[in-house]
Amino acid sequence: MLVVMQAHAKEEAIRAVCDKIEALGYRAHSIPGAERTAIGITGNRGEIEPGTLEEMPGVQEVIRVTKPYKLVSRDMKAENTVVSFPGTDATFGGPGLAIVAGPCAIESREQAFAVAERVHRAGAQFFRGGAYKPRTSPYAFQGLGEEALQIMADIRDQFGLKIVTEAIDNESLELLEEYADVVQIGARNMQNFSLLKRAGRSRKPVLLKRGMSATLEEFLMAAEYVMSEGNYNVILCERGVRTFADHTRNTLDLSLIPAVQRLSHLPIVVDPSHGTGKRNKVTPLSRAAVAVGADGLLIEVHCDPDKALSDGMQSLYPEQFEELMSQVRQIAPVVKRTVPGIGEHATTAASVRSRA
Ligand code: PEP
Ligand code: MN
Repeated sequence: MLVVMQAHAKEEAIRAVCDKIEALGYRAHSIPGAERTAIGITGNRGEIEPGTLEEMPGVQEVIRVTKPYKLVSRDMKAENTVVSFPGTDATFGGPGLAIVAGPCAIESREQAFAVAERVHRAGAQFFRGGAYKPRTSPYAFQGLGEEALQIMADIRDQFGLKIVTEAIDNESLELLEEYADVVQIGARNMQNFSLLKRAGRSRKPVLLKRGMSATLEEFLMAAEYVMSEGNYNVILCERGVRTFADHTRNTLDLSLIPAVQRLSHLPIVVDPSHGTGKRNKVTPLSRAAVAVGADGLLIEVHCDPDKALSDGMQSLYPEQFEELMSQVRQIAPVVKRTVPGIGEHATTAASVRSRA
């Protein structure tokens, strides 16, 4: 159920409705929009009798939500959610595309810094790197753990890049929150409901990847788990699904982007690296992802991919990433987007100043 407040409802009226909802044993999620505030009601004890709230001061209407998800829905919030990072112009869902780049895994300080320097120079504002790797084989490289988190924190200090890294369980999430700017939940954990709830209690934005065979509705329900715990900064990520096709590692489903944008206000980015598993397909599908209206890209980059400890086959060389950025800068204006960051052709205020 959803309570729509009148356009100029006072703060006390909103508070009173939330208090009433909570007193009835439910959770109230007050989400301000450009025109009005909507209050989502969650809980698993059946529905509240709408009349209980309809008569309260400041309430415009009480809507029964028929979809199985509420908080992720555009019914709850008509405007796009913009996840922002104070003190920077980096966003997910704003006019500027979010470019997240880095190696699959942090292998050493030298390896990570070498990639960070190149992707930063090319214009990425977010650095990705796995500290905890959910590998199919228990004998494959599992990540450097906290040492990797420290390396990424140092990368943030040196380059100003925001750090995106994956939590694989509640324990790693606990630790990772102290270091990361964005917590990634991987495809294999998209339906790990206890991890989703824990991420929902985190104060860090959550980048949630689509499960390998998740439907659109299952994907949105996973995001709903995070939001239902009070964390509204969720970024969705399409990374390909498993199909009969074997010319790529996964089948990148770009049709998901407009489908999500119709149903949800959450930002959605595309990961063509895991989506294809093949280096030579990453740039063409990055172009397509931007053209289809994605809010950003997540790209694996490695200076020596043949020696990478994971996902070398799909990692771009830094010079290929630079070329990708230059192509993305040309496509972005067609879909009314910009590419912030310090790259050669970027037109942020900072870069204009530094070129002057
Ligand atoms: C990753 O981003 O390195 C990763 C493991 O991705 P996914 O969960 O999409 O497989
Ligand atoms: Mn990877």
